[in-house]
Amino acid sequence: MAQESWKEAEDTGVHAPEAPIMCINNCGFFGNRMTENMCSKCYRDTVKAKSMALLAMVAEIKDEASASAKEGKRVAEEEAPKPPSNRCLSCRKKVGLTGFKCRCGDTFCSMHRYADAHDCKFDYKQAGREQIAQQNPVVKADKVTRF
Ligand SMILES: [Zn+2]
Ligand SMILES: [Zn+2]
Ligand SMILES: [Zn+2]
Repeated sequence: MAQESWKEAEDTGVHAPEAPIMCINNCGFFGNRMTENMCSKCYRDTVKAKSMALLAMVAEIKDEASASAKEGKRVAEEEAPKPPSNRCLSCRKKVGLTGFKCRCGDTFCSMHRYADAHDCKFDYKQAGREQIAQQNPVVKADKVTRF
């Protein structure tokens, strides 16, 4: 009994007559479930069209990527003409990313980062005067708008 029902299930799976599918493009040929209900010719055309669209898309992305890479490189070259020093100018200790850039333009370790710890060339007195001169008109303008 159990064997008979198993045999029946196998029969319906293998020998059931399949209704012929016509190609969904109405080209007159028979379609195939394996090829999205299209005949082999229409399926090939569809696949080709899809891959062409994909290729065009990939080419576009590539173009954009290379354009932005060029742009980025150009900006980097303009902003950093020489590689930044990763050593303290005072003790030559390697500081890497933890280095401190002084206002004199040189890089120092945490010990020598302050102007009085290294022979700083930056004119703080002059900079202070300039800063006060720059800030004064702002303060005046602030007062004017408030009254
Ligand atoms: Zn077709
Ligand atoms: Zn140092
Ligand atoms: Zn300095």
